[in-house]
Amino acid sequence: MIPIKEPWELVVMRTAGRKLAEVVARLRERLVVDMTTLDLDRLSEEAILELGAKPAFKGYKVGRAVFPATLCVSINEQVVHGIPGKRKIKSGDVVSLDFGLIYGGYYADTAFTVVMGEGDADARRLVAATEAAMLRGIALAKVGGRVGDIGHAIESFVRPQGLGVVTQMVGHGIGRKLHEPPSVPNYGKAKSGDLLRPGMVLAIEPMITLGTDDTKILGDQWTVVTEDDSRSAHFEHTVAITPAGPEILTRLS
Ligand code: MG
Repeated sequence: MIPIKEPWELVVMRTAGRKLAEVVARLRERLVVDMTTLDLDRLSEEAILELGAKPAFKGYKVGRAVFPATLCVSINEQVVHGIPGKRKIKSGDVVSLDFGLIYGGYYADTAFTVVMGEGDADARRLVAATEAAMLRGIALAKVGGRVGDIGHAIESFVRPQGLGVVTQMVGHGIGRKLHEPPSVPNYGKAKSGDLLRPGMVLAIEPMITLGTDDTKILGDQWTVVTEDDSRSAHFEHTVAITPAGPEILTRLS
């Protein structure tokens, strides 16, 4: 069963989303070459706590693995779930930041990718296409549509550009839990899957590559990289389905 949020729950989720968007704005301002990924993690954690919320990923468990940080920092061929550490961010790096918070018992989840410095044309093309793909997916998160419409919009936009779509990880419902039904793949058929109804809240998050669709997990049990070492980008918003259309909760309006 896909949880349907009551209007009061959406009020709380709007506040949670706005707080997360404020942290994104701060990170975008502070992200510079030569800082370490751990510096970024500390910045995000401080900002979340200052806003009266709690980090959503720190302590998150998959099987026996416990995620140790507030932020996932994934660079170049790393797709998602990179663990912050001593690595310094370099000019030309494709840096994806993914993180969430809990506020008032509800989760918000977001991600964005930046090319540090000028980068090369492929990096810029990848990042622009991934963000545009997310927005195309979000545009179809509307009452009467189906989950498959979202993935179809994403896939049919990026494949003709010669880009890969990560299929081993998908978007998800979100609310009282970080991951709720339904799964929201970034591929698929239009008019397939669960019917979208008012009060559903989805994390829509295309992970797009310059090469293969396939990924593998590194020995740290978290970091997901592309199978062919091609670079990857990731954008994500938490989106409420409302009678007035998709409402992006993790954006400063
Ligand atoms: Mg997510």
